[in-house]
Amino acid sequence: MEDELFEQKKIQVFIKRDDLIHPIVSGNKWRKLKEYLLIAQKEQVKGIISFGGAYSNHIYALAFVCKELEIPLHLIIRGEELSAHSNQYLSEINSWGIHLHFISREAYRNKNIPNEINQIDHLIIPEGGFSKMGIESMKGLSSELKDPFDYIFTAVGTGTSLIGLAQYLPKSIICGILSLSNKLEIEKNINDFHSNMANLILFDQFIEKKYGKKNTELEEFCIQFKKKHKISIEPIYTGLLLKSFYQLVEENYFQPNNKILIYHSGGIK
Ligand SMILES: *Cc1c(COP(=O)(O)O)cnc(C)c1O
Repeated sequence: MEDELFEQKKIQVFIKRDDLIHPIVSGNKWRKLKEYLLIAQKEQVKGIISFGGAYSNHIYALAFVCKELEIPLHLIIRGEELSAHSNQYLSEINSWGIHLHFISREAYRNKNIPNEINQIDHLIIPEGGFSKMGIESMKGLSSELKDPFDYIFTAVGTGTSLIGLAQYLPKSIICGILSLSNKLEIEKNINDFHSNMANLILFDQFIEKKYGKKNTELEEFCIQFKKKHKISIEPIYTGLLLKSFYQLVEENYFQPNNKILIYHSGGIK
């Protein structure tokens, strides 16, 4: 990636474009879902059950793939006050014939599966695709990144991509930019699935504090970045990732000659 700022700081910056994989099933969602769908097909399950928030990229990508592969899908959505018409993604998912179940936040926290869903012979995919298998699906991504990098930056939702990269690229320092206030949960996930933090850094100082409000500065950054680099980013994950990265560069976080990779995890919909 070319930028006067990178030249001035004498760093080399590369970007891994997983946003180009597919317009809807983009980035890390494709990598994670592929493994689950292979199992679903091999075991000839009757259907799939999964969880997510009303704006989750995970449920949108999964719904699209299940529609295409004609696999029955039940999605358990956080928020009993919502309906299939609460936003354009839900109504699109609904129009694909996917079964939507809206449950209270409390029931969601316990990952209760509503009684009306017959779970027999169904494959359950955890929220955001986070599991040992989700982490293992990052092996493919890691092997595509042949060059050694001093730092690799990724956005963090469940930490699947972060932990997978740390697991398979032990020689690089993997930096996770947190989007949500879930540092404790991510640290727990790291402890459960990755033996140590030796090559991991979590940045939680960039988390947006203005919930529900539009952050015009961040949105403006996304627009300007696209204009300059011809690469789309969205505010929640990849926009925050890049804005935070630029800030670290400005603050001289890196040494001259550092080689840095930005993982564009997709998510443009
Ligand atoms: C889901 C998602 C993430 C979060 O990835 P995890 O592996 O769950 O941490 C990051 N970026 C985009 C664009 C996503 O859709």
